[in-house]
This record gives sequence, structure tokens and C-alpha cells, in this order.
Amino acid sequence: MNFNVITLFPDMVKHTLSFGVIGKAIENGLVTISYINPRDFAENKHGRVDDKPFGGGPGMVMMYDPLKRALKNIENKGHAGDVVFLSPQGKELKQSVCNDLAKKNTLTLVCGRYEGIDQRFVDECVDQEISIGDYVISGGEVAACVVIDTVVRQIKGVLGDDESAMTDSFMNGMLGFPQYTRSDLLGQSGVPEVLLSGHHQAISAWREKQAAELTKLKRPDLLVGTSEGKKASHVPRRNE
Ligand code: SAM
Repeated sequence: MNFNVITLFPDMVKHTLSFGVIGKAIENGLVTISYINPRDFAENKHGRVDDKPFGGGPGMVMMYDPLKRALKNIENKGHAGDVVFLSPQGKELKQSVCNDLAKKNTLTLVCGRYEGIDQRFVDECVDQEISIGDYVISGGEVAACVVIDTVVRQIKGVLGDDESAMTDSFMNGMLGFPQYTRSDLLGQSGVPEVLLSGHHQAISAWREKQAAELTKLKRPDLLVGTSEGKKASHVPRRNE
């Protein structure tokens, strides 16, 4: 899978993605990420990429021209794929959105800065706007890292065990199950018996039940409209 990231701070994204499983996936060529800095496409002598907004008001706005030329540069070299603008005004990033993005071959992520970017670029060039949540951060770079991380996790061969993404929270509409591992300080105390039994079917059943119960407790909203939700909201009668 290929990503193009249009950003004024390529090192910020590059560095953040250089660790752990995502860093390995990049090293192993499972994913390629190209960085395009709009500043390299500013055709004024000071390399300016921002200007005051028409109509006045605080702050600066990223200009249309350097962004448009940056995108044109990507298109001239190959395929830009879907152009995604990271924006607090976009569709909220949910697992289902990540799963859809993971089906694409190429994504071009546009990171805003300052007060945002000229609306004409959004109207003309952007296929979708994605928000990482209802809050405002200082630039799209952190949001781009979130999108890339969550999409790359789903590429075959990125995680040590391809099954593990499937048992993550939200993948099947529920939270994940609780995990335990070796502790010199605690020994095996507090570890549910079944996990030590070696009985795979019983372990799977226990995990499924735990995931359902945790979801009911922590995120009942995820169960609304599902059969699990119906079970969860069902109050047993006296003789049931
Ligand atoms: N004035 C803009 C508004 O109210 O919509 C916010 C500008 S913000 C300071 C600068 C940039 O950070 C945005 O253009 C966007 O690229 C990014 N950004 C901020 N919050 C975000 C969020 N929740 N999700 C995705 N990107 C975000």
C-alpha cells in the first residue's frame, strides 16, 4: 500500500511512524510513504505557504497554490489515489472507516496547519475529510499518523500474527478480551483458571463472553441494534 503525505512537517510524521510494527512494515517494504512539502512548491521568494484569510480574522490559512502544485506533482509521478484531508470537520474515524481505507491501494493525506487550508482546495481536490475526534489539534500530522497506523496494521504480514488484528477492539463490533501474562511479582494469582487449562475451546468461549461483558459495561453504545445488545438489554424475568 502507498501513502503520500502532504505536510509542512514531514519529519514529524516520518519519525512517529519509524517505531514498532509500523516502522518494520516500512523497512520491509510492505508499505511505502512519500512526503511532499508544500513549501517546495511555493513560488514566492520567501517560500510562503500561508496568508491572511479574506474577510479578516485571526490566524493564517494555507494557500491553495502550493497545495495544488504539491498534489499535481504526486499525480505527475503516478497515482494519488483517494485524497483525504485530515480535518476536525470530517467524518469521524471509526474502525469501519479504517477498514474501508485499508481496501485502497494509494491514499494521499493532506495535513492542514494554522487555521486550516483554503476551502477551494478542499472543494476541488479532496475526496473525503476525516476527523480523529471532536477536538482540535494544531495540525493534521498527528491525525495522519493515526490513519496510517490503523490502516497499516491491517496489511497482511505487518503484525506478528495476522489473526491478532481480528481480535482487536472494534473489529467485530465489540471490545477486546482481557489479557494476562507472566509476572514474577504476582505469580499466577488473579489469572482466570481457564486460561491456564490449555483447553482452547474453553478459552475461546471465555474470551468471547468476557468481550461481550466488557462491551456491555464500558461501551454499551456499540451493542445498540445488535443481537448482543438485545441480550445485554434483556432483563431476565423471575423464573428465567
Ligand atoms: N480552524 C480549523 C477549524 O476550526 O476547523 C482548525 C484548524 S487546526 C488548528 C489545523 C489543522 O489541524 C486542520 O486544518 C487539520 O488538518 C488538523 N486537525 C485539527 N483537529 C483535527 C482533528 N480533530 N482531526 C483531524 N485533523 C485535525
